Amino acid sequence: MTQTEEQTLSTGDTPHVPIEKIVSLCKRRGFVYPNSEIYGGVSGIYDFGPLGVELRNNIRRFWWWSMVQTNDNVVGIEGSIITHPRVWEASGHVENFVDRLVDCKNCKRRFRVDHLPEENVKQNKCPVCGGELTEPRKFNLMMETYIGVVEGERMKTYLRGEACQNIYLDYDNVLKSSRVQIPFGICQIGKAFRNEVTPGNFLFRQREFEQWDLQFFVHPSEMQQWFDYWKERRFEWYKSIITHKDRLRFRPHGPDELAHYAKQAFDVEYQTILGWQEWEGIHWRQDWDLSRHSEYSGQDLSYTDPETRERYIPWIVETSGGVDRTFLNLLIDAYEEEPPSGKDKEGRTVLRLNPMLAPVKVAVLPLQKNREELVTTAKELHSKLRRLMVSQYDEVSNIGRRYRRQDEIGTPFCVTIDFTTLEDSTVTVRERDSMAQIRLPMNEVPAYLLERVRWDYSV
Ligand code: ATP
Repeated sequence: MTQTEEQTLSTGDTPHVPIEKIVSLCKRRGFVYPNSEIYGGVSGIYDFGPLGVELRNNIRRFWWWSMVQTNDNVVGIEGSIITHPRVWEASGHVENFVDRLVDCKNCKRRFRVDHLPEENVKQNKCPVCGGELTEPRKFNLMMETYIGVVEGERMKTYLRGEACQNIYLDYDNVLKSSRVQIPFGICQIGKAFRNEVTPGNFLFRQREFEQWDLQFFVHPSEMQQWFDYWKERRFEWYKSIITHKDRLRFRPHGPDELAHYAKQAFDVEYQTILGWQEWEGIHWRQDWDLSRHSEYSGQDLSYTDPETRERYIPWIVETSGGVDRTFLNLLIDAYEEEPPSGKDKEGRTVLRLNPMLAPVKVAVLPLQKNREELVTTAKELHSKLRRLMVSQYDEVSNIGRRYRRQDEIGTPFCVTIDFTTLEDSTVTVRERDSMAQIRLPMNEVPAYLLERVRWDYSV
């Protein structure tokens, strides 16, 4: 990864893992690869490898389970990436979705004006070399595309700049086709595209990325109560999946950052070597989105209360976060290099991922690969376990090396088949974080593991 302006601005004085270590682990162990690498890559676009896709799916499924499946008043949709172009006029993106950029005339670095310290903006001074900055220039972030094949009849539209617009577009259909009533929420996980002018810091700022959104529709008189409710819930949700709880905080938006319709807004922020950075936004959207789409489409999107017959445009609480930032923050949060100790003479790199999110849940290891009984028993157990969870069978190299390989990818449990297994059908179960080993009857292993890797979340 190249040194970006964003990194230069970071504080860098916190004892956090350098992003380069995460990038290297991701490439080495098959979590994330640069996209089109053999052609030199495309800045801000990545592919996910065999372990990455498992971790990503687990993160998404956990969000979906805790937001949609365990809430009676929340349903889900999956909208398309391409929509009618008028959507982006109504949303304000065509006109206002811009970044203002300045260049340093001296060192030629480029900065987003909203990422510069206030005094540098006032003094028009580069934060790195002190050189003079150019006048800000505006760049629209929307990615254009065209529908149709006949030149002249093709319709220009956009790859969606934020996933949540589909929720407003489908709001009325959901209302009419399901049994929800206000207050209720619609969730979606989906790709978004932005021509970011300063992509960088690995998955943190990409041009193609994925968002998860909840849009919660309420009566205006209940807005504050639901805003507070989702704000707390989302914070607790993030807290529940990380180890370093002190690296999480809320940051209220200042008056200059607030949209004109918003009474308040908060970012859930996580602290890395880049400093405190947004992970998810909790936004007071009021009736802005549904009013705009009513106005631009000519369709009445107001709601009639079935009991009081009151008619109104619902207000919206939005929680909008990034799947990729979650992926990156979880790896940063989990990564640890342990020096040699009594328990492990060589030292190890360990990913202390929450077991329910870890890409591989268990590795089954025969103590030696040249003893047929050990290998057969291990393969049998592995084929039972892989029906229940992601299990890996590994017989290559000595047992200590194999444990370390699993530690590095965050596998919470290793099960070793040894000579005692052949006598009494017990196995060694080794736990990743403590490296503690216990012996269990082999037939109890599935239930033991299932209990420890299951979804776990309650508010
Ligand atoms: P930022 O200020 O960092 O540009 P934003 O305020 O524009 O972010 P939103 O539009 O509120 O972000 O998007 C919601 C979430 O989507 C963010 O909290 C973040 O987790 C994620 N996100 C936004 N832009 C990107 C990106 N370029 N790459 C990866 N994730 C992103």
